[in-house]
Amino acid sequence: MSKPFAPQSLLSVIAQRGAPHARNVRGRERRVYAILARVTAQPFIPPRDAQFYLLRAHRQPLPANIAARFIEQFTQPGDLIIDPFAASDAVVRAALERGRRILAAEVNPLVAWATRVQATMPAAREINAALKRWGETRKDNETLREYVEKLYATLCAQCGASVNADAFVYVRDGAKNLLAEKIYTCAQCGARRDAVSAGDRLRADNAAPRGLTLPLLTQRLYADDPAHTPRLKRLLEFYTPRNLNALAVLTQKLETDFRQDAARQILDALLLQALDVGAALYATMDALPARAIPPTFVEVNIWRALESAARGLGERAPALRLAPDLATVLGTNAPAAWIGQGGARLFAENAADAQAALVLASPARLDPTFWELSFLWTRWLFGKNAATPLEPLLEAERQRWSWYGGALAKALDETARLVRDEARLVVAFPSGSHAMIEALVLAAASSYALQDFAFRPDDGLQTVTEFGALRGAYQVVWQRRATDAIDEAPSLTGEALRAALRAQALRGALKILRARAEPLAYSWAHHGALTELARTLLLRDVLRQTYRQGNNAFQFLHHEMDAGLKQGYAAELDHWQAKTRVLWLARATEPSQPALCARVERVVRASLGAQKQIGRDALESMTLQEFPGLLTPERELIEICARAAADENALEWNWRAESEDAFRAHARALTAQVGMRLGYQAIEVAAPFDMVWRVEKIIPGSTNGTMPEERVYEDAYGFIFRARFDLDEWSAPRAATPRGLIVLAESQVEFAQHCLWRDPRWQRQLERAGWEFLRVRWLELLLQQSDATRPEFHLAWGLQPAWAERQEQLELFE
Ligand SMILES: [Zn+2]
Repeated sequence: MSKPFAPQSLLSVIAQRGAPHARNVRGRERRVYAILARVTAQPFIPPRDAQFYLLRAHRQPLPANIAARFIEQFTQPGDLIIDPFAASDAVVRAALERGRRILAAEVNPLVAWATRVQATMPAAREINAALKRWGETRKDNETLREYVEKLYATLCAQCGASVNADAFVYVRDGAKNLLAEKIYTCAQCGARRDAVSAGDRLRADNAAPRGLTLPLLTQRLYADDPAHTPRLKRLLEFYTPRNLNALAVLTQKLETDFRQDAARQILDALLLQALDVGAALYATMDALPARAIPPTFVEVNIWRALESAARGLGERAPALRLAPDLATVLGTNAPAAWIGQGGARLFAENAADAQAALVLASPARLDPTFWELSFLWTRWLFGKNAATPLEPLLEAERQRWSWYGGALAKALDETARLVRDEARLVVAFPSGSHAMIEALVLAAASSYALQDFAFRPDDGLQTVTEFGALRGAYQVVWQRRATDAIDEAPSLTGEALRAALRAQALRGALKILRARAEPLAYSWAHHGALTELARTLLLRDVLRQTYRQGNNAFQFLHHEMDAGLKQGYAAELDHWQAKTRVLWLARATEPSQPALCARVERVVRASLGAQKQIGRDALESMTLQEFPGLLTPERELIEICARAAADENALEWNWRAESEDAFRAHARALTAQVGMRLGYQAIEVAAPFDMVWRVEKIIPGSTNGTMPEERVYEDAYGFIFRARFDLDEWSAPRAATPRGLIVLAESQVEFAQHCLWRDPRWQRQLERAGWEFLRVRWLELLLQQSDATRPEFHLAWGLQPAWAERQEQLELFE
């Protein structure tokens, strides 16, 4: 008789992972064990896709190069791919170009339409011709184009010439929008940005809709529909009167002159882009849209928006031939694609035996503002009935993560029925939140086993609090699980489940902290915990239990993960508070490997040294290969490492063939000269220093002459000359005297500063070991000064010497 199953024993086996333990597990447990996919970390793929996409800012579609890589990796020609959240035509194109079949759909009818239209856009010539015809229709005494452009007329602040602005900038004052600046290009003076004049304010006021323009529009949008009128009125406030006027006039022309026109679809696509970027939700021209009008926003020239949309759509590859229905794609082995509107059920009902090889998508974010805007824009472009499928998305409960997570879980479970055994699920998106990634990982847990999880934070300093999240890009891969084994596997409930979740979360956080060997923002602790949990069946148990009890699985998981990490404070976890950052760190175990920044620098230097000349993208990709999954370094780190060894230009790195011997000779000569100038003897010595500055001291003899005067020599400073920055070398304790100075090559300064910023503990370590940096540049400056003093020498120490600040201040006065 087999022993009753003991949850704790399975957990510990799972936790230790790795095949050898499988021997100790019997029967049923062994099967459970077999379905836990090993995490095989893959390199992060940097997005290299500058293509134009309709609704891009709202949907952040999967970049074409990322789609291509996963398609090549996980499918063969003829295989079927499913994109259940078709945010753009990028995945469809990537699939067709590689001879695959693809079914793409999206619940939001506006997104589905935009995706389909973008996939089938005609050549640039046709798009431009359509826009030209639209612009040449008459409005009062001028062309429509002249009418719209003139709404943005202004005068150059420099030369007074007439010019149409590209955009205006408004500042919010309570509920009022104050016109503040104009952005324009003057034929004489070039690109400018100036404060607006009284004339500009007057013209903005006069640019509001007149006559029947607005009534005709509102009639179209919400007449006889009291249920939606307040919402639509509120949404129309996202437009300045001037932009509302332009958009309404353009729409009216479409209705009167282009009702049956063959080019109507092209013009609708252009108008959609103008509706999007013409809303007062963009803080700058390149910003992602806010969810309410931001404190400062841009009002783009609507005609320019149409023109840039025409350019963007025209630059795309030729129109695709799409299949008329799903069945056509399913019934062939030749490359074929279908794009449509619908949710998971659509696939379930029409593609049950699809046997897809890959599900590849960038899911919609929880974004009620975009759903509301979709509702407005769908009615605007296609009338009331077309927007009906969006009505459920407007309900208040749809704004909650619990609903979002539940909907995702349902959608992913449905896709699991359409794929063959061992098929992959890949989700990639350029900017996500912790809540979104938690919802995703949990939603996938019942049908898929996590295989790989890569996260890369956005560049730039980010302020982080103890539980503050970094924004960044995600690439996550799962593999379809064998369902029978999953269902048979025993589950944990109640307190046992909570305890297991907490322990496993802490284990995961510690694992990533040790793997990167540096203090980290909370995001990594969180992702380490989440991925560790995803390796077990605990997430399945979370889903099961909370569904049964009607609880919110997503909140439950989030809470237990945080609780687990908090439990770790007592023993293995610690924090480092550094100015604007709270960093998490694993407590004082001997690091088994160098810090991540040192490892990245080594790889980058090796690649540069081997290639001498290498494209920036190529270097980034090569480096990322070496640091997969949660080890993925920020782009910033790779570039800093590269700058330490190579010169950069726009496209490539050129290895600086620096001779370390030459550097040492230069540093040695400089140090000796400065030492002599300051009255020391500079003497070359053997380890631990390369040179010491020696000072002669005279101990006076006794007055009665019994003790003669004595001369002793004392080492005041010890120097080492280093062309490379290597923290490990300097962390070992050494005798306190003499003071040690590391004379560092200038090329290493930025990297050195970055390393000390990443791990503030190093500063302390260096101080404890009695080391201080001395930059070559400051030795040179000291030498140039004929009257350099010993106090000035002290001020020249450090990566950012105190003297530097004084010099800069002096320069200000000169
Ligand atoms: Zn000018």
